[in-house]
Amino acid sequence: MSIAENFHKIRSSIPGDVTLVVVTKTQPVSKIMEVYTAGQRVFGENKVQELIDKQAQLPKDIEWHLIGHLQTNKVKYIAPFVSLIHSVDSFKLLQEINKQAFKNNRIIACLLQIYIANEDTKFGLSFDEAQELIGSEELKQLKNIKIVGLMGMASNTDNKNVIIKELHSLKLFFEKNKDLSAANFQLSILSMGMSADYPIAIAEGSTMIRVGSSIFGERD
Ligand SMILES: *Cc1c(COP(=O)(O)O)cnc(C)c1O
Repeated sequence: MSIAENFHKIRSSIPGDVTLVVVTKTQPVSKIMEVYTAGQRVFGENKVQELIDKQAQLPKDIEWHLIGHLQTNKVKYIAPFVSLIHSVDSFKLLQEINKQAFKNNRIIACLLQIYIANEDTKFGLSFDEAQELIGSEELKQLKNIKIVGLMGMASNTDNKNVIIKELHSLKLFFEKNKDLSAANFQLSILSMGMSADYPIAIAEGSTMIRVGSSIFGERD
């Protein structure tokens, strides 16, 4: 199947109110354009340099999401245009995003990345760290960011029960904090699910999935 066919198949198999973020990491502009021409406008990159390069070359009505780990010294490069940062994993990073958003006269939407997997290679806050951040006075001072949801990645395993358990734990934490509301805090997005596990993630309450290889094929 072609890239466009893969995209249409996935888009039509998921509920209409679930946002599909097409993950373009390592993919050339020509292949990304195949998905754009098929109607997609929301794309995600995990590296800042690739995000900047592709944003410059591709149509300006694309909504770009940063989904991978973000270093504080690189926030300034994406602050002018990024639509959503999925990978906020420290207060220090949030402060820098706030600073750069202010310089650009913007409010940048962010997700807190929560560590739910049983692997030590993945970034993110623990539930306790996230709860502390959410309740902190310091957070209230940041007027140029808005925390609009949570992101998580399940373990890379064939054991479906492990995946369900991890994704479910994030859904429970989301529910627990969903009714809290402040000028810069209101959870509405639950970003979980990738090629390997997005059907499970949707069943567990995901509102946003991030899919790359099921559309473009396996990366080298
Ligand atoms: C690469 C990546 C994805 C997509 O992974 P696929 O298995 O290609 O669908 C999703 N989220 C993050 C954070 C990624 O880095």
